[in-house]
Amino acid sequence: MTAWASPRASESTTPIRAVVLDLDDTPFDHATSMRRGVLRLLAELGLRPTPELARSWEEQAVRLMERHRAGTLGPEGYRRARVAHLLAAAGHPDADGMTHAPDVLDQTYAQYLELYEDSWIAFPDAHATLDRLRAAGLRLGVLTNGPEDRQRRKLRALEIDTRVDALCTSESVGSRKPDPRMYAAICEVLDVAPEQVLHVGDDVENDVRGPIAAGMRAVHLDRSSAASSDGPDRGGSCPRRITGLEAILSMV
Ligand SMILES: [Mg+2]
Repeated sequence: MTAWASPRASESTTPIRAVVLDLDDTPFDHATSMRRGVLRLLAELGLRPTPELARSWEEQAVRLMERHRAGTLGPEGYRRARVAHLLAAAGHPDADGMTHAPDVLDQTYAQYLELYEDSWIAFPDAHATLDRLRAAGLRLGVLTNGPEDRQRRKLRALEIDTRVDALCTSESVGSRKPDPRMYAAICEVLDVAPEQVLHVGDDVENDVRGPIAAGMRAVHLDRSSAASSDGPDRGGSCPRRITGLEAILSMV
């Protein structure tokens, strides 16, 4: 038994019948989608779309989300601060003094969201891996913390909806990963037992420790890691890492 296997699952005797994937930052490339969205926004605003501004937009998102999570910045303040920072960084002329008016910031953020959604893109390894897993006879599911409507639209936009058998969202299940009810829900829909599932995702708690506690096997997708896909675990507490989705193909 490897360190990434569930202690409750016998890897040698229980074949994998299903692969369950997280959605955001697993087949869905949020960072690239965000960059494409903000570059299109800058162009629509008549500002120069530069990689530096896209990077700054991304960095501000992280910084302001920390304040939002800490409870010091509400959702409205978060959105307005992001746009105000972008416009200032882009040198937006504010001759009429209206650029940073709250309603202008709100409208601009709504404009960005539309462009971001229109820029949704899958990682290059997503389609080929899903197609090969399905050709190998595996059941495929997506398990995600997120609103049902948005995640369904995202699956369609990424052309993943036709490549998987099921989607379970936290909204439809009524709980969130790593709550065991989430893993039980996708097993029920896919008609498999937890020990027949390999779970894959980018979040160690939600996509590895949670599934393992629920009796599944799991691997951590760490696209930023230089570790080899079959590299040793670190300290025994870290699950097996892969750096791209194709690595799943050798595990099922
Ligand atoms: Mg994720």
